[in-house]
Amino acid sequence: MTVRVRLAPSPTGNLHIGTARTAVFNWLFARHHQGQFILRIEDTDEARSKPEYTQNILDGLSWLGLNWDEGPIFQSKRIDQYHQAIQKLLDQDLAYRCYTTPEELDALRESQKARKEAPRYDNRHRNLSQEQEAAFIAEGRQPVIRVKIDDDGQINWTDLVRGPMAWKGSDLGGDMVIARAKASGEIGQPLYNLAVVVDDLDMQISHVIRGEDHIANTAKQILLYEALGDTIPTFAHTPLILNPEGRKLSKRDGVTSISDFQEMGFTAEALANYMTLLGWSPTDATQELFLLDNAAEQFSFERVNKAGAKFDWDKLDWINSQYLHPMPATELVERLIPYWQAAGFSFDPVAERPWLEQLTALIGPSLTRLKDCVDMSQFLFDDAVEFSEDAITHLQQDGVAAALASLKQVLSSLETFSAEAAQTSIKQVVKEQGVKKGLVMKSLRASLTGSLKGPDLMESWLLLHQRGVDLKRIEQAIAQA
Ligand code: GLU
Repeated sequence: MTVRVRLAPSPTGNLHIGTARTAVFNWLFARHHQGQFILRIEDTDEARSKPEYTQNILDGLSWLGLNWDEGPIFQSKRIDQYHQAIQKLLDQDLAYRCYTTPEELDALRESQKARKEAPRYDNRHRNLSQEQEAAFIAEGRQPVIRVKIDDDGQINWTDLVRGPMAWKGSDLGGDMVIARAKASGEIGQPLYNLAVVVDDLDMQISHVIRGEDHIANTAKQILLYEALGDTIPTFAHTPLILNPEGRKLSKRDGVTSISDFQEMGFTAEALANYMTLLGWSPTDATQELFLLDNAAEQFSFERVNKAGAKFDWDKLDWINSQYLHPMPATELVERLIPYWQAAGFSFDPVAERPWLEQLTALIGPSLTRLKDCVDMSQFLFDDAVEFSEDAITHLQQDGVAAALASLKQVLSSLETFSAEAAQTSIKQVVKEQGVKKGLVMKSLRASLTGSLKGPDLMESWLLLHQRGVDLKRIEQAIAQA
């Protein structure tokens, strides 16, 4: 059997981490079995679907490296197919038009609540006579189309994650709505459960891999697969992603869309790696770092947990740093440039490339997220230095002004500046001023960086010198001292 799986996002928001993790599992499963991964955009909800969300979803999947083999297929372009399927169900008397008004449904729910019963539709329009139907139409009632659900029926499937599953027909809330209809009775907008099943059958989907919040839909959809086709896909319901308190991760937890993670400075490789671990573990459970291709080699649902997966920022940060630290500066710089640009730093990415690479080599080992490069290197891009309170306190100590003035003089007389020349100049100041080397170094750091801590001082100095701002800063510091 050819494995054919699909991701079916609704473009009603940006690519959500939960959908992206579902995409990861679909992709891994497809690649493991040399199958196909299909992208289907479920945009039948015209009011809430937006093209910019579709674009965000496509961009996010591409960025993560989750390439698809077919699609994107848009449900909005397949309305005819859904109408045909609905007509077939009506013709076979498996579906019918229901004219119950929203007010009647509310009253029904209230009475059920009063009797402490679970809310359900009571199938009251299942067997309307032609006269009754004509009367409702004459009243101008807007019908919906419902599929009959046998309350005594039993729905069973073997879930690849959760094992044997059994639902009673009576637990599905009564006959299910599959489409809206016009007052004339004409078939209108098809609804989610119907469209999914028509598509999965047409696209010959072998496995439906999606979040466990869809389990109740699966029970209903199985009834539709049985009515409309002769195959039912295999299901795998993946665990939800939870916040640190153990509740479903939601917008309230802050960042949830892939483009936000991207903006914060997570690399695609690290995020994909981390999402793979949200619910799945490799055969060697101590292995925490792998690319998607490595994970695909060993991916199976036997190693997917039933329990929800807690989102852990520290772990994601750690994984991200593990990808960033070994990256050569020539590659890392490419990833940092957009963040420096977004921060508004002025530089020429082509002409100043060697300088940018040198800067990358300096800060690369301390990065956790790419965006950290902004705060870490701001002092190197600024023209003038901003002194912290600590730095000012230090600069105002006895002997500092004289040491800096002497340094300025020694440096001004240098013909060429180099790391060696810088060291020699410091030694000369120590000797001439009779001060400790530590004091000169600390004063130099305060002058050049405006702070008492930061990346390697000599490297920072070389970078500032290339930008032609080191002497100016020493002068600025003398003025403070
Ligand atoms: N459009 C559904 C969603 O975004 C897809 C569910 C499915 O995979 O069938 O949740």
